[in-house]
Amino acid sequence: MDISDILNHLGEDRETYSNAVSPPIYQSSNFCFKDVATMREALIKEFDEPFYTRGYNPTVAILREKLAALEAAEDSLVFASGSAAVAAAIMSTVSQGDHVVSVARPYSWTDKLLNIYLQRFGVECTMIDGTELENFSRAIRENTKLIVLESPNSLTFELQDLEAVASLAKEKGITTLCDNSYATPLNQQPITMGIDLVVHSASKYIGGHSDLVAGVLCGSSEKIAAIMQSEYMTLGGIISPHEAWMMIRGLRTLQLRVEKSCSTTKEVVAFLEQQPRIEKMMFPFSDSHPQQELAKRQMKDCGGLFSILLRAEELEEVERFCNKLNKFLLACSWGGHESLIFPMCALRDSKNYQHGEIPWNLIRFYVGLEDPETLIADLRGAL
Ligand SMILES: *Cc1c(COP(=O)(O)O)cnc(C)c1O
Repeated sequence: MDISDILNHLGEDRETYSNAVSPPIYQSSNFCFKDVATMREALIKEFDEPFYTRGYNPTVAILREKLAALEAAEDSLVFASGSAAVAAAIMSTVSQGDHVVSVARPYSWTDKLLNIYLQRFGVECTMIDGTELENFSRAIRENTKLIVLESPNSLTFELQDLEAVASLAKEKGITTLCDNSYATPLNQQPITMGIDLVVHSASKYIGGHSDLVAGVLCGSSEKIAAIMQSEYMTLGGIISPHEAWMMIRGLRTLQLRVEKSCSTTKEVVAFLEQQPRIEKMMFPFSDSHPQQELAKRQMKDCGGLFSILLRAEELEEVERFCNKLNKFLLACSWGGHESLIFPMCALRDSKNYQHGEIPWNLIRFYVGLEDPETLIADLRGAL
């Protein structure tokens, strides 16, 4: 389907709401009925028609249709955060005594869910280096129910061969889940490569303005219906109608924003790669990336994230470099209009994020919508 049509029109039945160009925010928890017979009928389809907003809301329904189409999925669900979407997806596939294989260093709270939270329920997890297919084959057991992927990883940018992992998993009847936040559905569609479930932190590119926290889960009608009936309705981490509307507004410009962020990123990366103080560049489309060929094969374009190792003797030098940047705000998250840096050395005193093997001179960059010249001048000054 034409992407611009999805972003501008799909799911918007304007005649049903006074031909408003922008859809109304159905800020209502419940919907009423003229008689018992109509109410009884509505209860049969409570997830497909207005009844109660946790199950169905017309504003959210427009958003779900767009997101599913963008991911080439049959259906989607929208959650209060990316982490809620990840948790619902993972918990829908495992029971006590099951085993999960996950790529090493997934998003930090996905890691905690797999390696701490789910242990309480007797679910085991093996973390592997996902750059080699044979590591998956070796880690899979009789009781493996799920493979968790994040390609590329959003901190160190390793990739997995999605098609190859999906076909290995299919042979063994294992569900595959891919966190696609970095690439966005515009640059990578894991479902077309055989992946079963795709999640996004919509707090990043999909929302796109650093003003909301939300998550997306896409998959087959069958899988999404099952998750709707259990994790979505029972754990209840739903999106509010107002935030769904903000996401619809964010989607209008998704293509423009992602294209701009990606093209500026390439210019910024090209500049940094020439600088002697850059010890290492971590960026999937870079000539120095060991999986560049795979990146270009399975992704239409890069994303606006990359990391560097800054050549420095002391932690203070890294701090000084970060403090000197004016156009890159020091903040977590990414995917908004503003460029950002996240230095690993900022995690030093937090017990929630012990990254262990990640070097303290690693700085993660996000390139937003500023002009490349402005960002490069800022970097030149700080270097
Ligand atoms: C931010 C992020 C998440 C978590 O999303 P929230 O919306 O913050 O809950 C998950 N995966 C990746 C790759 C992320 O960047």
